[in-house]
Amino acid sequence: MADRFFINEMPEFVAETNDETGAEGIEDSLLKLLSLPYPTLAAKLKRTALDLKETIVTNTWGFSGRCVSDFTLYTGSLGTAFLLFKAYQATKNKNDLNLCAEIVKACDSASSGSGFSLSLSLSLHSFSLTVLIYGFMRLLYSSDVTFICGRAGVCSLGAIAAKHAGNEQLLNHYLTQFKEIKLPKNVPNELLYGRAGFLWACLFINKHIGKGTIPSTLTGPVVKEIIKDGRRLASKVSCPLMFEWYGTKYWGAAHGLAGIMHVLMDMELKPDELQDVNDTLSYMIKNRFSSGNYPSSEDDGTDCLVHWCHGAPGVALTLVKAAEVFGGRQFLKAAGDAGEVVWNRGLLKRVGICHGVSGNAYVFLSLYRLTGNLEFLYRAKAFACFLLDMAPKLISEGKMHGGDSPYSLFEGIGGMAYLFLDMIEPSEARFPAYEL
Ligand SMILES: [Zn+2]
Repeated sequence: MADRFFINEMPEFVAETNDETGAEGIEDSLLKLLSLPYPTLAAKLKRTALDLKETIVTNTWGFSGRCVSDFTLYTGSLGTAFLLFKAYQATKNKNDLNLCAEIVKACDSASSGSGFSLSLSLSLHSFSLTVLIYGFMRLLYSSDVTFICGRAGVCSLGAIAAKHAGNEQLLNHYLTQFKEIKLPKNVPNELLYGRAGFLWACLFINKHIGKGTIPSTLTGPVVKEIIKDGRRLASKVSCPLMFEWYGTKYWGAAHGLAGIMHVLMDMELKPDELQDVNDTLSYMIKNRFSSGNYPSSEDDGTDCLVHWCHGAPGVALTLVKAAEVFGGRQFLKAAGDAGEVVWNRGLLKRVGICHGVSGNAYVFLSLYRLTGNLEFLYRAKAFACFLLDMAPKLISEGKMHGGDSPYSLFEGIGGMAYLFLDMIEPSEARFPAYEL
């Protein structure tokens, strides 16, 4: 089991020195980083993040001749655009905003039309098998609808970038396109390809453009479908809401309960629906592994995944939100317990956001935001410093996996750059495309 993660040998706490010279005598490079005054470390992380951003843009945009083969936020070009938008927020450098808009525009063209027409035209031109499979997967998963893997992400980020650029016409174009996205009847409920991922895009637009931009007349029926589906499957298990994705009752953030509950807590719910969300989360806490980790699905008996997508990290972020929404001790305590699992087993041998160290660091940032407890900030800092100090070397030596899409936001170093930018103002940090 330990081959999935590095044993966490970092100290439980390291006090910061008052000035940079105080850390100079420390030989261990990781300890030295942890001892730096926070503003000095934040400046270092920012510099590294902006350098990484340049590398990522060169590799995902420049070298491809500004062509988009995978438009998604998860592994494709939209992830680069999202990172550029984050960099713009951190530095107010208009070049980043302009390049973000340019990449979104290319993603808009690449994602226009249905999955069917895309896969058909690809097969007619018989491009590589990978591209064919990709087109087929789009068709299979009705992937237009979500923020992370679909066109909904393209239209919402496009609208927000246009708003920041003061381009009203472009803003209206993307909002109109967004409202034309149709949810097929058989669309799943989870976050990456389903209804929850569509609702998240709506929430993101309303947060950045204005309340009611996507009205509840559009989101309400989608919420209703999720609750209806959840209650229908719940009759077969002792949990008030349950969902399936390709026949499996997942629990994690990407495909299961944690992700769906996370989004539902931001929607307008009736009291009985809110109670079902509360009781579903209580069911998960009651039925977690004795280690404090969470199964990846209802029938999963192997306690091995500590990822955002499957396991304690994704659930922890949902429990933090539950503590905010419902109050009381239960969810706060459970979120802290999940955080403990992440500290002990979450220093994964992967770099990314979805199932890597970068994503797991956000558990501590979320707990820090909720509690103000500096020990959580230290833990987030420790994971970030581990990456800053070790990741390039570990990846080049093959001891750490750099991701199948090594420059991507969710699997590659894009996620690490995003985390470093979030560390500049840790109380404002949000897990990308998941925490609002
Ligand atoms: Zn994952």
